[in-house]
Amino acid sequence: MANGRGSEEEISLFNDYDFEQLDDYQQSSYKQFEGLDEIKKGSLTMTVLWYYGAVVEEPEDPPQYITPKRISREIKAANAIWRTHNGERAIEFTGIYTGGRDLTPRQNTETLDEEGIIDLIRDARDAYPHADIFVCYLPGENFMGTKAVARAVGRTVDNKLSYLIIMSNGARARVDDSGIKQGQDYFLAHELGHILYFSNYKGDQSDPNPKPSDKGHHRDDTEEGKKNLMAPTAVPYGEIPTLTDEQIKKGLESTFFRDNR
Ligand SMILES: [Zn+2]
Repeated sequence: MANGRGSEEEISLFNDYDFEQLDDYQQSSYKQFEGLDEIKKGSLTMTVLWYYGAVVEEPEDPPQYITPKRISREIKAANAIWRTHNGERAIEFTGIYTGGRDLTPRQNTETLDEEGIIDLIRDARDAYPHADIFVCYLPGENFMGTKAVARAVGRTVDNKLSYLIIMSNGARARVDDSGIKQGQDYFLAHELGHILYFSNYKGDQSDPNPKPSDKGHHRDDTEEGKKNLMAPTAVPYGEIPTLTDEQIKKGLESTFFRDNR
């Protein structure tokens, strides 16, 4: 897609995920699921927070229960893509708690360090701890020294593993004043994919057709591959990425959808 300098800009997602290695105890719990039947429908809940300075398209003078337009669109996009065309397999994502933080976050995405990540996890747990995944919308255009505009991380904080997705303003779908289209609504869906893969009950954390140098992403050496949701570089504004039935099947192998997790 074009950027303000008139050249093709790629919004790269490479290095947009970072999960703490699980310890032996957590790894061993995968084994108890071996041999279980395939699960075809799954649902995940999210605590979604937006901070002062994050552009989320809040309605003017909003009643508190209204989820901002950008966030609604991105959750809708995730629900639309993580299902097979015939609806046989599907993952449903729900913002079980959504809330604006009037706080200026201590950091924005451009300066976010490890301490900032831990702060966000604690803050999200304070807001609503019972969700499967936490999502924070922050100010900032991208992540420290990279082109990544969204990130998924897993961290053990206070002895509990939490998954956090951090969304920057650079990810948002928008048309700027000079008519340049940037961002898209599927970055949240992409980051959710990383968490689904990482939490695979068999411990097989790759995309089903992985990029050889980066197995958490989809192979992108063909035109078809480049359009895939899990390709390392996002499709341009207005294009709808693809997701294969194998990838959805793989997503449904997350421990999130197994009892006793
Ligand atoms: Zn990625």
